[in-house]
Amino acid sequence: MGLSILNADENAIRDAARALVRREVAPHAAHDDAHEIYPRRNMELLGQQGYLGMIVDPAFGGAGASYLAQTLVVEALAEADPATAVVYEVHNSLHIEAIWRFGTDEQRRRWLPDLCQGKAIGAFALSEAEAGSNAAALIARARRVNGGYGLTGRKMFITGGGEADRYLVFATVNPDLKEGGITAFVVAKDAAGLSFGPPMDKMGIRAARTSEVILDNVFVPESDRLGQEGDGYSMALYLLDGGRIGIAAQGLGIMQAALSRSLHYARERHQFGRPIGTFEGVQWRLANMATDLHAARLMTYEAARHREEGPAQRPLFAMAKLFSSEHAVRHAEDAIQIFGGYGYMTEFGVERLLRDAKITEIYEGTSEIMRWIIASQLLHDYDLDNI
Ligand SMILES: Cc1cc2nc3c(=O)[nH]c(=O)nc-3n(C[C@H](O)[C@H](O)[C@H](O)COP(=O)(O)OP(=O)(O)OC[C@H]3O[C@@H](n4cnc5c(N)ncnc54)[C@H](O)[C@@H]3O)c2cc1C
Repeated sequence: MGLSILNADENAIRDAARALVRREVAPHAAHDDAHEIYPRRNMELLGQQGYLGMIVDPAFGGAGASYLAQTLVVEALAEADPATAVVYEVHNSLHIEAIWRFGTDEQRRRWLPDLCQGKAIGAFALSEAEAGSNAAALIARARRVNGGYGLTGRKMFITGGGEADRYLVFATVNPDLKEGGITAFVVAKDAAGLSFGPPMDKMGIRAARTSEVILDNVFVPESDRLGQEGDGYSMALYLLDGGRIGIAAQGLGIMQAALSRSLHYARERHQFGRPIGTFEGVQWRLANMATDLHAARLMTYEAARHREEGPAQRPLFAMAKLFSSEHAVRHAEDAIQIFGGYGYMTEFGVERLLRDAKITEIYEGTSEIMRWIIASQLLHDYDLDNI
């Protein structure tokens, strides 16, 4: 039947993506999580099926689709495997989109086709050990050398670090300029001087490798700089706006999984001689989950529909991420509660929902930073008629 808040074409994309995910991704998601298997195979498959670089013009290897279409694919992936969803989201919203929006035609021709076909996976390297929420404080240096730049520094918590084939690296050409010195570069995995820390052992999205990216005087030719010197910071914020819609969609997928699993269990599980779904305490929890999910979808899809308006809609993107991620965590807890003791056991797979959900409140801007963005605009442009 599809979702009433999507049109027929959007529902068709959602249905096709969910069918692919159920057939190809879901069956091995728990295994990949347990064994920390990076989802390269999933990404290759998504590339072969036309789901990578969906917003990119077909002339450069994409599908010329809407931002919402891509958002629906993130949601479909996250319903089965939030680790693949984040690798997909970083590849598309933070790496491909950077080249698509800010690259020259020569750079687009050189990099986008492989990225859109899943032959190369892209990563985004902004955060540093001492520069997380305040990315403007980064200290990785880009020093001018003959024909290009020498990059030196360490990037912390990079999704796909050591697995991805290309890295969008942010470094400063002049720390005195603060954010005005931050510049973006595309660095290939095999560049001399580039190395990676071991996979970091983490709570959830365990198949999505997270590693330090270490740059020791890595030579980057001028032709691999994206945009102009000093453009990097506003570029990163622009990209993170879209990334946050993606993380909101990751939350939606987790909420959908929590609700579907809980509904099924509430019908099947009997206590006191009847299904637990007949108890009001369980019913209210289910009703709240369905209501929150609907609200989160409205917010996330609306944010995706406004993506092209860019930073002017930044609070809308922040609201979608804030609402969706916080509810994803809550719903994962709800699902565990509905499953009782079985929910706490790895075998039933609902504990993974909570492990995978928590990160949505942290990466691509924490919930505190989302509230800061929203409140800053409220206090700046407070207009009672438009609240
Ligand atoms: C699994 C994982 C994958 C990641 N992938 C990537 C990636 O691919 N690329 C990349 O560049 N980065 C990545 N990150 C980094 C991520 O974006 C940062 O962890 C995040 O932005 C928070 O930064 P931090 O961890 O340094 O926390 P901090 O900034 O040190 O924050 C610590 C706490 O202080 C709060 N805080 C900070 N400033 C304020 C403020 N002004 N007001 C109120 N509260 C505040 C925060 O909300 C948080 O609760 C990843 C992180 C993880 C854990």
